[in-house]
Amino acid sequence: MAAVVIDGNAIAEQLRQSIADELQVLRLSEVRPGLATVLIGESFDAQAYEKHVKRLAESLDYRYVCERLPEDIELADVIATLGKLNADPRITGILVLHPLPPHIPEAEMNSAVDPRKDIEAVHPMNAGLLAQGRARFLPSTPASCFYLLDHYADAHGGGHESFYSGRTMVVIGRSNSVGKPAQMLGLQRNATVIACHSRTKPLDAYTSQADILIVAAGVRGIVDGSMVKEGVVAVDVGIHAVKDEETGKTRMVGDLDFESVAARAAAITPVPGGVGPITDVWLVGNALMAAAIAHQVEPRFGLFR
Ligand code: NAD
Repeated sequence: MAAVVIDGNAIAEQLRQSIADELQVLRLSEVRPGLATVLIGESFDAQAYEKHVKRLAESLDYRYVCERLPEDIELADVIATLGKLNADPRITGILVLHPLPPHIPEAEMNSAVDPRKDIEAVHPMNAGLLAQGRARFLPSTPASCFYLLDHYADAHGGGHESFYSGRTMVVIGRSNSVGKPAQMLGLQRNATVIACHSRTKPLDAYTSQADILIVAAGVRGIVDGSMVKEGVVAVDVGIHAVKDEETGKTRMVGDLDFESVAARAAAITPVPGGVGPITDVWLVGNALMAAAIAHQVEPRFGLFR
């Protein structure tokens, strides 16, 4: 079986275009999204991601600010910065960049962002709304997995209503930002969801049941072709930088052993070029949704399919 390789770059570009179109409409109501990032310390990854989000936001003519805070800042001062952004009506979406310094607890950060500006959807109120099936924002990474799956289902799987219904979906990972919300989204689409994690043994007893598999373990090559059934639709969330033995260059790989899973799958997302490109666009899409909500304008923009 030749697996369909789901093209995340192309789907991300379509999503970006639909955000740009919606912006034109929202401008008529004088709505302009404003995105703020909060960068604590000097992390290379956080700084690189900040630049990327800035470029994307500015390409869509959002207002954009970055609050740069020193590595040794007190928790109270970070919370005060977030309070200032929460109170600023020009800022409609806030993103706290990761990794955080060890003395800044993630749970405190998640609760300190106004839930109406929480474009990461990590505030306990937004996590609760998602669990109840009435999310305001969807966290970008799991939402991107389902955006890709919906696209695949519409193009090849007879429509996304029937694609999930009664199918066995296995999600590896139970983090608050990826695994758990992915499980919720699977349930909402009427899949039978199996949640696997670091204590699940043996993993292949579950992965081999999957009609749809989402892997977000952060473990390179944790699932190979011998662990999946013929015809699985597999989504790879993992990102790992590896040095290519032949070329000496760094390349990105995922949590799936791509070649052997692709040999048995009906469809698979690649790394790079699968989930990753959608997540950033989704985040700026959430900032647009937040701006519409703040202005009490009903967006036509359908992030929640
Ligand atoms: P995390 O470390 O918070 O969670 C990993 C989860 O995997 C945990 O729930 C753990 O129980 C489970 N796990 C770990 N080892 C396992 C094992 N051996 N067997 C079964 N389960 C195991 O990570 P996260 O933030 O949820 O991210 C997961 C991965 O996705 C990472 O590789 C991360 O880099 C990547 N990621 C990608 C994007 C993207 O845009 N593509 C975005 C966010 C995260």
